[in-house]
Amino acid sequence: MQAISPEIIFRGNDAWEEALPLISRITKSPLILGRSSYTQKLRKKIFIDLKDQFLNPDTTDLQFDCCYEDISRVKNLILENSHDSIIAAGGGKVLDSGKYIAECLDIPCITVPLSASTCAGWTALSNIYTKNGQFIKDVVLRSCPKVLVFDHKFIKTAPSRTLASGIADALAKWYESSITSSRINDGLVQQAIQISRVLRDQLLIDGEKAFKDQSENNFSWRNTIEACGLTAGLVGGIGGEKCRTAAAHAIHNAITQIITPNKFFHGEIVGVGLLLQLKLEEMKNNNKLANQSIKQLLALMEVLNLPTSIEQLGINVFENNNLEKIADFTCRDNSEIHFLPFEISTQDIVEVIANFEQEKIKV
Ligand SMILES: [Zn+2]
Repeated sequence: MQAISPEIIFRGNDAWEEALPLISRITKSPLILGRSSYTQKLRKKIFIDLKDQFLNPDTTDLQFDCCYEDISRVKNLILENSHDSIIAAGGGKVLDSGKYIAECLDIPCITVPLSASTCAGWTALSNIYTKNGQFIKDVVLRSCPKVLVFDHKFIKTAPSRTLASGIADALAKWYESSITSSRINDGLVQQAIQISRVLRDQLLIDGEKAFKDQSENNFSWRNTIEACGLTAGLVGGIGGEKCRTAAAHAIHNAITQIITPNKFFHGEIVGVGLLLQLKLEEMKNNNKLANQSIKQLLALMEVLNLPTSIEQLGINVFENNNLEKIADFTCRDNSEIHFLPFEISTQDIVEVIANFEQEKIKV
């Protein structure tokens, strides 16, 4: 069984308004799930628009993350008030929580991404974290959301940092899927990899222009947000598990184990993981193209103000055994790092990160 895409997708500048009649047929008493204070105004609009459709909506916010504490609280709220759907309106953590809870309770989930920071509005996947933001595991869901509303005017209000994060996460699709899956003899997987290559090319061409002018009139911006929020999800849907993640995400998951005062977005951490994955490919797989890819990525990441080292994520790897902690978590059993077509040991990770961070300090 493969969950490829949401049942229905609305996209464009008036996607939310276009979706309203369908939403009012699907649900009578939805729970709107959100988190950030940035998005409060938009969620208020969503609430009022649903009221105007004679629905009986309610709202709640995640207190922490996509974590078991929030999940069980929201589940109970839904059961106590007999809500018949979840409208998850926010970033990746909110969307992941909404999808997970909806599946547990067997009610429809409507995702309304309020930034282009991830493709979580599309996928049949939820990443579960501790309440402090440490990655625990990802859960494969039975289906993608029932409805995805990708409203450009909502996404335009998000800080540009979310777009940069989405670009880094979407770029990882090509680098991760091409190394893990290029030997899989399955037409759909091969086609998914090709889509991720086109996706990467488009982001390399349009990413900077999109970041500098976030407006609906800017063709590059429209292309880029849809690449991050839609196409990246499609690649995972068609390609399946092995097309989703490899070392970049495994290293992301490990870095989240170190709690820092400033929180970084998923894609910001994945971007650093991606550079480290390419370093690993160079070191362990003798990949001569990896260094060129690093240079190409670094140029874009710098324009997008993305972090390019673990130090820039607020972590000194040479303190508190951080390096060993990251290496151990990266190489734990069931880690995506083992999807790589060559053996990786914790010592390899220690070496690659130590060299990379030292080089960065010198620069
Ligand atoms: Zn990701």
